[in-house]
Amino acid sequence: MKLYCATTNPGKLREFKLIVANYGGDAFEVEPLENTKAIPPCDETGATFEENAAQKAVHYGAHAPGLLFSDDSGLEVDALGGAPGIFSARYAGEHATDDDNNRLLLENLKGIAHRGARFVCAIALADHGKLVRTFRGHVDGRIIEGERGPNGFGYDPMFFHEPFGCTFGEASAEQKLLVSHRAKALAAMLDYLRIR
Ligand code: IMP
Repeated sequence: MKLYCATTNPGKLREFKLIVANYGGDAFEVEPLENTKAIPPCDETGATFEENAAQKAVHYGAHAPGLLFSDDSGLEVDALGGAPGIFSARYAGEHATDDDNNRLLLENLKGIAHRGARFVCAIALADHGKLVRTFRGHVDGRIIEGERGPNGFGYDPMFFHEPFGCTFGEASAEQKLLVSHRAKALAAMLDYLRIR
């Protein structure tokens, strides 16, 4: 079964392909949607990960010859009432870098002992641009007081995952894929497609 994916981020596409190969075997194939860059960008005005993922799946799915999925993800920190949440990529401003965001998060957590957090991913599936349903995955951790490890991206170096005994920045890409929010959401979608 061919599953189109509208992303211009080669890292994300690689990760999706790897997860689907690991979890879906030969049954599924992830293909980038051709000419994604030529399609006008999609508004992301939702109030939840699911709403944003659905907006993108419907928007880009209208240009796909079949099933297309989109994702939206971010970090929720308990002590900050779930922030940065859907604003994770632009926590420190519209053009913020990962470093800017990480610095601001550490600053906002200064002196706070309870640092529980989770990465959340919503995946929306559309069929010829019509929303089929959404799927959610999450992984729990806590935000440490500095950054550790060169791997991953975004908030990974500050995200300590107890079962690993290290941050996602210190874990390998393969290790992270076994437990990640994106892998869990994608696996839920593949389970659904197997029995649909
Ligand atoms: P988006 O799903 O591409 O919109 O990602 C939103 C933002 O959430 C990213 O820019 C990162 O800041 C953060 N994020 C999402 N997933 C991860 C992850 O696996 N590790 C680290 N940061 C993440």
